[in-house]
Order: sequence, then structure tokens, then C-alpha cells
Amino acid sequence: MKRRDWIKNLGLGAAAVALGVISRNDAIAAEATAKAARGSAPLKITKVRAYLTRPAGVNLVVVKVETNEPGLYGLGCATYTQRATLVVNAVNDYLDPFSRGRDADNIADLWQNAYTSSYWRNGPVLNNALCGLDQALWDIKGKRAGMPVYQLLGGKCRFAVDCYSHASGRDLKEVEDSVKSKMEQGYRHVRIQMGGYGSEHLSQAPDFAGAGFGLPVDRLMDSLPYLKATIKMFEHVRNTCGDEVELLHDVHERIEPRDAIRLLKDLERFRPYFIEDPLSPEANDYFRQMRAATTVPIAMGELFNSPHEWVPLIKDRLIDFIRVHITQTGGFGVTRKIATLAEFFNVRSAWHGPGDVSPVGHAANLHLDLAIPNFGIQEMIDFNDATQEIFPGCPTMKKGYAYVNEAPGWGVDFNEEAAKKFPIEKADTPSYWNPVRRRDGTAVRP
Ligand code: MG
Repeated sequence: MKRRDWIKNLGLGAAAVALGVISRNDAIAAEATAKAARGSAPLKITKVRAYLTRPAGVNLVVVKVETNEPGLYGLGCATYTQRATLVVNAVNDYLDPFSRGRDADNIADLWQNAYTSSYWRNGPVLNNALCGLDQALWDIKGKRAGMPVYQLLGGKCRFAVDCYSHASGRDLKEVEDSVKSKMEQGYRHVRIQMGGYGSEHLSQAPDFAGAGFGLPVDRLMDSLPYLKATIKMFEHVRNTCGDEVELLHDVHERIEPRDAIRLLKDLERFRPYFIEDPLSPEANDYFRQMRAATTVPIAMGELFNSPHEWVPLIKDRLIDFIRVHITQTGGFGVTRKIATLAEFFNVRSAWHGPGDVSPVGHAANLHLDLAIPNFGIQEMIDFNDATQEIFPGCPTMKKGYAYVNEAPGWGVDFNEEAAKKFPIEKADTPSYWNPVRRRDGTAVRP
């Protein structure tokens, strides 16, 4: 294969031009050669496959869509880490045969039909599978256009993506040190947590464990110590780290609606940037009371899977930030629509971006962040060396800002051989969201 064809097939033509590896004329000629080989026939999907890997101790699911243009493929994130193998089955057993032979260009049409192909819909497993397909088609679209995906959405609304990082500790001093470390790295927004998502380090041993109720891995959520410690944490960080840094906090549901409303009121004097997921999705109707009680900005939506969850909160202006996990909405295209809806109601974005999003998914987050006017803030993590080997073209960080690789599509590739070195955990120890209980053993909903 000629060098320019090889580069074209990797979808790296524009980047190669930018790097001076090939000339712009060579890239145009390679594209013309591929088009001539295909003739006027539509670009068809020939194969859809899901892959698993775990380079940083978290199951990741990546979907690869191949086409009838040799070497032209797209990548999508379908990471639902707690049910990873089910997503693989949904992709390989159902979306692959459904998609073969269909036009790769008609993303919206394919999405609409794949969405209803299961008749029942809006569940997490199928939404993730669908997102893997959808994102891969956007990647292909960008590669064919020779542009990063954000250009297909109208171009940049900002030069880079402002991010927040996680600071945590078992006590006040550890949290303070962690915040200062993040500030030294250039972050202007820091999420602060003490004792994990609740009170494991803030309480005595749980009574249910002493009673032999549940299993030793089950965790405690003791509301009162958590509520008191969270207020102290904000006070301490404000006193020791100053008023300039923006502070965020994730309640991670778990507490009663009345306690959540009181917590936000108590935190108001510390000017949080936002408080995340103060209620479980089942308690959405309490947001109206929360809104009336406090001016603290509210971020919500990490657990959402359905339009029936995000539409009411946005249209009634009950939240300030929508923070869905893009793959759980069913697609990049869905989340783009959420962003557009939210724009008209002054709700900003804060897409879920922790370790259980693959670098392909992080790139999708960032391309959307770059292109929407109502971007708020982006949750971001560091990628370890193994992750960067598996996913060449990972987004990069500088002074708290994230940058995408400017190659066409998402700008992220997938090294299947490198991925095999990090298989997911054995089936007898899957990644559960371990049970969380009150002191007496009652199950608590995250
Ligand atoms: Mg969260």
C-alpha cells in the first residue's frame, strides 16, 4: 500500500498534512483514489464489533464500525463498566447484523431505526450499544470530511475545554493538600470529596456488619456524619485554599431529599460552583422544592437514560447543569440534542467524564464541549501510559484545559493488540456497584 493511502485509511490525512508527513495535494489525491474505487455507490457498513479492555482498572467497551471502503472505520465508546459483557453481546449479536449493508452516511436514520429495533428502549445496556454505533459513524463522517467532528457541528466556541479535576482525602488536611495540588496543576475548578461518597472514613464500624447482615464488601452510608463533615470540608477548603478556586461536590444521591435540600442551603455561604446529583433520579420531583429553597447551582443527570428524565428538569429550569453520561443517552447525536434543548433554558453542560469513559468517549465529550455555546464545565481524568498506548491520540491537558487531537473524526485510534494485554476481570468477579447500606443494613440507592 502506498504511504498516502495508508495514511488516508487511518483517517489521519489532515493531521499528516499538518505534521508535514504528506502534502495537502497527496491527501486530496488519496481521498480521490478512495472515492474512485468506491464509485458513486454509497458507503456501506460491513461489520460492527465491540471490544473490551481494562488498562486502568476499569472495564472499557469500544465499538468499531468497518465499511466497504478498505481501511475506513470509525470508533465509538459504549462503556457501561458494570455490565460490560452485556453491551458486547448487544453490539455483536444484534447491532452488527442490523447494521450490515446499511448506509454509513445516514447517521440519524440509522439511529432512529436501531433505537426502535429492540421495540423496548431507553435502557442502559442497549443505549450504550447504540451509542457505540452512533459515535463510530460520527468518527467516519469526520474522517470522510477530513475534519475533526467539532468542525462538523459548526466549529469552536472556545479555544479549549475548561475542566475540573477530583480532589479527595480521608480528613480535612488531606482534602486541602489535594485541592492545592490540583490548583498547582492549573485547575481552576476542583471537586472536593471527603471519605469517599459518604462516610466510610467518618463513622464507626457499621452495625449491620457486626450483625452479620450482608457481605463484608457492603459499604456504610451514615447520613448525619456525612452532612456535618461536608459542611466542615467546604469551610476548611475555603479558609485554606482561598476564594478564587471554584469548588464542586458530588452528593452521589444517597441522602434523603429533605437532607439534600438542607445541605445545599448550608453550603450556600461557600459559593459552590455546583452540587452534583443531590437526589436520585427517582426523586426528581423534589427539585422544584430544592430550587425554591436555595440559589446553589444544581448539576444533575449522571444516571439518566431516558428523555423522560432530562426533558422535565431542563424545560422547567430546575437545574443549572445537565451532566449525562453520553453513552447512557444512546448516542452523541442524542446528547447534542440535549445540549441544544438546554441552551434555550440557560442550562449548561457538565458531561460525566470519570474513568469509566474510554478515551474515545472523552474525545466525544470534548468535541461537543468545543462546539456548543452553553458549555459549562467538563469532568476530566488523567490517562495512564497503558491507556495512551491502546488509544493513540488521547486528549491532552494543559493548565486545566483539555485539548482534542486535531486529526479527522474523534482523533483517537484503537490498538487492538495493545488492548489484549489488559483483559477485563474474570466473570466470577464482575465490577458491581457494591451495596451501600444504612447503619441498620437498609439498602441505600445511589
Ligand atoms: Mg457523579
